[in-house]
Amino acid sequence: MRTLPPRGGITILTRSRTTVGSRRRILELLLARDALSRAELARLSHLNKPTVSNLVAGLIDEGIVQEIGSGTSTGGRKPILLSVRGSGRLVVGLEIDASSCRLLLVTLHGERLSMVELPLERSEVATVVEVVAAGVNSLLTNRDRSTLLGCGVAVPGLVDPANDTVDSARRLGWEGTPLRSLLAARLGVPVMVTDRGKAAALGELWVLGKERAHDLIYLYLGRGVAGAIVLGREIHWGASNIAGEIGHMTVDPDGPVCACGNRGCLEAFVSTAAIIEQLQPVLATKRDGPLARALRSDAHDSDVIAAIGEAATLGDPDAGAVVSSTARWLAIAIAGLINVLNPSVVVLGGPTAGWGRVLTDAIDHELGQRALPLSRREVTIVIGHARDLAAPLGGAALVLQRAAGLLAGSEPNDGGRRSVA
Ligand SMILES: [Zn+2]
Repeated sequence: MRTLPPRGGITILTRSRTTVGSRRRILELLLARDALSRAELARLSHLNKPTVSNLVAGLIDEGIVQEIGSGTSTGGRKPILLSVRGSGRLVVGLEIDASSCRLLLVTLHGERLSMVELPLERSEVATVVEVVAAGVNSLLTNRDRSTLLGCGVAVPGLVDPANDTVDSARRLGWEGTPLRSLLAARLGVPVMVTDRGKAAALGELWVLGKERAHDLIYLYLGRGVAGAIVLGREIHWGASNIAGEIGHMTVDPDGPVCACGNRGCLEAFVSTAAIIEQLQPVLATKRDGPLARALRSDAHDSDVIAAIGEAATLGDPDAGAVVSSTARWLAIAIAGLINVLNPSVVVLGGPTAGWGRVLTDAIDHELGQRALPLSRREVTIVIGHARDLAAPLGGAALVLQRAAGLLAGSEPNDGGRRSVA
């Protein structure tokens, strides 16, 4: 590293490309393993020992790496073991929804430190950027702000990798919105953005552990229906970065018009609004009970959906019929997907997945009639373990997967859409 003379009162530190590459190799090794000695780092990185010692000294000075004790001797002195200091740098995972922003602070080791949810009164991007900045400030209260490594964002819409913008997020009223660059400028750290389906799938992969998720389909069931396809433990992004838009699979060519303009998309049948709409006739005959009260209230969609699930579990026939109908439409889409992709697990997330067993049992029943026996035999339909945290966790995962490059100073702040998973 060399220090350039102060310019305008600011000392600018630059590193040669070789040094950055070597730092990155050291950090990749340390982030992938619990503890390594300097000698092991030299052997694994193919760098000489003095270079490793210099780089490690710099990383210790910066608070990124720490000495954690002695390892086993192979003849001489016991080696000192090194590891990445989890709290040496922090990452924010963020989910933006139409009504709120949820931010999660994690360490480099993925330890969850704190979470904050802030309401969104308005969804113009300038307002959202300020709300996010307030949320980050709140998470970093009493912490050194310079430890923030980056922010990974999940949005309910399509993200265009070519222009680095949120191409379309109808629920936020966004079109061609340069969220990443606006947030990066406001927060002063690298920002990565992806759609909520892929972020939530990354969050579930994190919780499931990659060993259990070689091939996986993720479905987010909420006001919109998003998804992601994981093949060979990697998110499949597709040519335009929008692979996994399962909500816009046509399940009935003569079905209702979807928000995308097409007719009979899965989302047009199983979005929370479509589910609640199906139960409106019930109000004519049902005057009381928890289901009728929930449908008559001004409650948030997700609360009404929860009430429907509870009523179905307790045997309410109207709620049960809507769960069966929702499961049938989902099974039509899932049968096609598992026949084509042959995954071992389909993970359901989002508010409607809160119905739990009553939903997965109904989907299982439908799949028995619709999917090929061999694809059906190997697949399990499960409710996501990460629940409400899936999308913010996935946002954090976007940054953590590039941590070595960001810490080494070799990552361009380009959104990083393809290097994840
Ligand atoms: Zn559609």
